[in-house]
Amino acid sequence: MSRVKFYFPDSQDQVDPSFDFQSEERSPFRVRQRDDRYAHEVLRPPPYDGLLVSKPIVDGMPGVSGKYTEAQRHRLYREGVKRFFRLEQQGSQLEIMGDCGAFTYVREDEPPYSVNEVVDFYQRCGFNAGVSVDHVVFGYDPHLDASPSDVPAEWTRRQQLTLSLAAEFLRHHRKNQCDFEPIGVAHGWSPRSYAASVRQLQSIGYRRIAMGGMVPLKTPAITSILCAAKEETRSDTHLHLLGITRPSHMRQFARCGVTSFDSTSPFVQAFMDERDNYYTLDSSHVAIRVPQVDGNTRLRRLVNAGKVDQRHARRLERNCLAGIRDYAAGHSSLSAAIDAVTEYSALLGDKKDRTQQYTDTLESRPWDRCGCDVCRDIGVEVVLFRGAERNRRRGFHNLYVFEQRMTRELAHSWERLN
Ligand SMILES: [Zn+2]
Repeated sequence: MSRVKFYFPDSQDQVDPSFDFQSEERSPFRVRQRDDRYAHEVLRPPPYDGLLVSKPIVDGMPGVSGKYTEAQRHRLYREGVKRFFRLEQQGSQLEIMGDCGAFTYVREDEPPYSVNEVVDFYQRCGFNAGVSVDHVVFGYDPHLDASPSDVPAEWTRRQQLTLSLAAEFLRHHRKNQCDFEPIGVAHGWSPRSYAASVRQLQSIGYRRIAMGGMVPLKTPAITSILCAAKEETRSDTHLHLLGITRPSHMRQFARCGVTSFDSTSPFVQAFMDERDNYYTLDSSHVAIRVPQVDGNTRLRRLVNAGKVDQRHARRLERNCLAGIRDYAAGHSSLSAAIDAVTEYSALLGDKKDRTQQYTDTLESRPWDRCGCDVCRDIGVEVVLFRGAERNRRRGFHNLYVFEQRMTRELAHSWERLN
């Protein structure tokens, strides 16, 4: 089975290499745009095959600002994506795909961007591939395949709109002799309706098709859609899954023609998830919450209300960090570290008892066994849920492990198929 390519959606999450984990200070000479590093610069080889850059993240939308600062945005347009993400100087093989982030405008009647401006964005910035302008069908009902007359008019309208935008997109692409790879988007509300979109996109001329709007769907629904689409897909058509992460199903998806997908989950779970913060090949660990006294809103409120003494809070925070570090270095016991963490959590008013989970994390010492550049570089700091510098690095670590999980999954399927 050929490799399934993984694209990581960019959200300008970088780390500062000058950050000192003991003093928590940065180099005074740090220039963010010059010195901060992307995951593909921290981890060698890069943990993904490419980046996905969404237009709303860069440009915002009418009334909504993007994630890029004005300066970053101008630099991206001026330098193009390859230079902006520093891919050129490293002879990197990473590809950059663009899309319109259709979920950000799902509530609008029409997409906020014209085909012309999107084609121009991809071409001017030097993208390798670009997804046509689309509009998400916000609903799923497989029973409608048996009663097509009950399909809500709005769903049909959005599907047809996406198809006509795809046709226009390809016309502009040809007329302007663009050199990025055009990708059409299939939307639908059921297996048959998705398959119909795939068929039409192929007849328009697309050989790479992104399956859109599937983020809210459960795995069985995704599987049925892909099975239905498989009956329509030509052998030279490639499917991309927008925003879908299911490593354990990827070999099944690949049999249906999926050759690429994108997802932020491995990265964001590092600091958004309740449990799966630090990935290992077979499971995951909870990261240990040690918020900064000064950076924690709840704690600051308690201090301001006179309910918590700030010096006392600082002392518990320091004990907590020291306890964990001493344990990691083999200088003190696990229970001493856990006690210090528990005492600090109690002060923070943390209602969840995570003692068992924290014990698991510390006892198994996953940072010692991981071969990624982050764990080798910062050790136990990687499992501390504390500030962007640690949390993002743990996200990078997860991307590294995720890539390994994918490789293992697809290698297994190779053995099984042969
Ligand atoms: Zn690691």
